[in-house]
Amino acid sequence: MFVSDCISVNEKGHLTIGGADTLELAAQFGTPCYVMDEQQIRKNCRAFVNSIKENYDGNGLVNYASKALCCKEMCRIAAEEGLGLDVVSGGEIYTALSAGVAAEKLNFHGNNKTLDELHYAVKAGVGRVIVDNLEELNALSRIAAENGKTVDILLRIKPGIDAHTHEFIRTGQIDSKFGLAIETGEALQGIQAALQAEAICLKGYHCHIGSQIFDVEPFEHAAQVMIGFIADMKAQTGYEAEELDLGGGFGIKYRTDDNPIAFEEYMARVAAVLKQECAARQVKTPFISIEPGRSIVGSAGLTLYTVGAVKTIPDVRTYVSIDGGMGDNPRYILYQAEYEILNAARANEPKTQVVTLAGRCCESGDLIQENAPIQPVAAGDIVAVLSTGAYNYSMASNYNRIPRPPVVLVDRGQARVIVRRETYEDLVKNDI
Ligand SMILES: *Cc1c(COP(=O)(O)O)cnc(C)c1O
Repeated sequence: MFVSDCISVNEKGHLTIGGADTLELAAQFGTPCYVMDEQQIRKNCRAFVNSIKENYDGNGLVNYASKALCCKEMCRIAAEEGLGLDVVSGGEIYTALSAGVAAEKLNFHGNNKTLDELHYAVKAGVGRVIVDNLEELNALSRIAAENGKTVDILLRIKPGIDAHTHEFIRTGQIDSKFGLAIETGEALQGIQAALQAEAICLKGYHCHIGSQIFDVEPFEHAAQVMIGFIADMKAQTGYEAEELDLGGGFGIKYRTDDNPIAFEEYMARVAAVLKQECAARQVKTPFISIEPGRSIVGSAGLTLYTVGAVKTIPDVRTYVSIDGGMGDNPRYILYQAEYEILNAARANEPKTQVVTLAGRCCESGDLIQENAPIQPVAAGDIVAVLSTGAYNYSMASNYNRIPRPPVVLVDRGQARVIVRRETYEDLVKNDI
């Protein structure tokens, strides 16, 4: 009935997550507040790990794309479940290391890693650097040599695939700021340079075709293109890649009528394509990695807000203002992301109102949802926005000097804070 298995309604008619009553959580931790269900996160991790075991003889690794939700406890959970971590900045490396995750479990991504970050990654000893371009390759080679280390890399390749999702979250096509294109010969050049570079060990290739993808076809297509690429490069350079990272981007349910693919089906079909293409092109089946982010944490989280003013403009719309907004969830303002919204105290009742959920920032565009159905709501009610576990806390800002909400983790009904609510003191701590 709801967008996520961890969401339900109790005998009082209150919305629950991971067995905890959201009204009690709101009373205990205040609003706005992000709430995550630990069991759901772990279940999602296991589904990916098992799908590689069952369909690809376990010859692969799942890396959690930590940018979806990066905090120490989330890094620990992913590591405990046997996942590696994708990191995209020095800050994410630092967070993972502070959480006790081993550096060799980290894959370092990004289209413009700074020299400081490359130094940091090399010194820390990250497992893989996913090299985006030739300048980066040269810089990394120099830094690795200076440090007397050899760095294992994957080259980020643009497979030239249009995954039919929103323009801002599409990355596999040729017109993308990420990676080296196959068609233009850039990718071949990258391989030749990597094979010759000092202190660099080329392990294979990486691609990531986009985000919030609902079909398996673009993933199958990418797998086919990448195996073809491995074979072509073997023929042209003699180098046969051992590893293939297929990226993330698996879609999740934001609204009840969204229909994402099951991870199991994704891996069954992609593994079949990989094996078939490797046989056809006479290359070894590579060790694979996948990089789910949103699909690990997205539907395991929700955000709780308290309703303030309700403004009905006759024949126009009803604005329901909440005590958060674009500062804790910029996804609507960025790309009109859709969400299911509920009155947490009346979660089982029919949605008889259509409202615009408005944030409290000084921006007319600061909306969380426009013209969305919801149960009747009034000032003081607790509203829940579902599926906010990914790209909400991690994209949050202090616009209008509003402190960021806490992240509360629920495990079988028991709640604990894993990221504290920011204080006013936190807001001025770097001000001189
Ligand atoms: C963002 C990103 C991911 C994760 O994408 P999701 O849509 O959250 O699964 C994986 N790999 C790379 C390289 C990314 O940039």
